[in-house]
Amino acid sequence: MPVTVKTFSTAAEAASVLSSDRAARYFGGGTLVMRALNEGDISIATVVRATDRALNRIDVTGARVVIGAGVTFARILAERELGFLHAPARSIGGPAVRNMGTVGGNLFAPCPFGDFTVALLALDAIVTVQGGLGARDMPVEEFLQSRDRQSGALVLAVSSARPNPADAFRYRKIARIRPKGGSVITLAAHLPTSGGRISGARIVFGSMGPVPVRARAAERALEGRALDASAIAAAAAVAGEGTSPADTAIASAWYRREVIGVHLRRLLAGQE
Ligand SMILES: Cc1cc2nc3c(=O)[nH]c(=O)nc-3n(C[C@H](O)[C@H](O)[C@H](O)COP(=O)(O)OP(=O)(O)OC[C@H]3O[C@@H](n4cnc5c(N)ncnc54)[C@H](O)[C@@H]3O)c2cc1C
Repeated sequence: MPVTVKTFSTAAEAASVLSSDRAARYFGGGTLVMRALNEGDISIATVVRATDRALNRIDVTGARVVIGAGVTFARILAERELGFLHAPARSIGGPAVRNMGTVGGNLFAPCPFGDFTVALLALDAIVTVQGGLGARDMPVEEFLQSRDRQSGALVLAVSSARPNPADAFRYRKIARIRPKGGSVITLAAHLPTSGGRISGARIVFGSMGPVPVRARAAERALEGRALDASAIAAAAAVAGEGTSPADTAIASAWYRREVIGVHLRRLLAGQE
């Protein structure tokens, strides 16, 4: 089936086409869209691209860092001020995928992908989305819960506060093939403290459900406690609660449930 490619100079024009044409699909880096087209996905009749420079900007001057949806993982790795996002960016694919794949595309990547989005959810990032009725900001958690309904919208950017101190944010990806394997489980934790006690913990798992999911039981187990062995054991014991992993070629749902507590314990304890 022929596919029409439409390239616009502004994000607004691209968003307008996406919101009015159900068979239109935005093309970020194309690492997933091209695969779908090559596999004969007939739901895509139009590929929409935008050359708007705003989609490629990185702004690290304010209290929150702003990353355009079209920014690639290679660019994130080249930006020293985004050091707290280097581990998730580095964990994605090989060099070719990191050179092409974008932050915006990662928000839509299905399990076992979406590693960068796991980090964004732990950091309580905000997603700026342009729909038919204009642009709006929403927490990435809300975005992911309604992701299926976002396919007609254009993501413009994501923004996040920097973790302070830097080691309040931790990230780990478990994969069978390194460096470019899909995820068995991806984990990220943001553990701010107040007076030596954890306050406002966010723990997120990738590949433990259709979209990255918060481990709320584990978060509750840490709240108000020092990050000691007993708090870590309490969080690890309830790690799998509220998750719904799938059987994939990379790992079974059973295996993912079996090992999630072990990997959360290692992440929290700072072990390799
Ligand atoms: C060999 C290989 C290895 C990979 N390894 C990993 C990995 O380790 N970890 C991982 O997380 N992913 C991995 N991926 C998946 C993918 O490369 C990444 O998730 C990447 O971030 C997708 O971004 P993209 O720009 O290429 O998306 P695209 O292919 O351009 O788009 C993917 C989807 O997102 C939509 N989209 C893209 N940008 C926007 C936007 N701004 N607004 C609205 N919708 C948008 C598209 O319409 C499409 O539905 C891998 C892919 C391949 C082919």
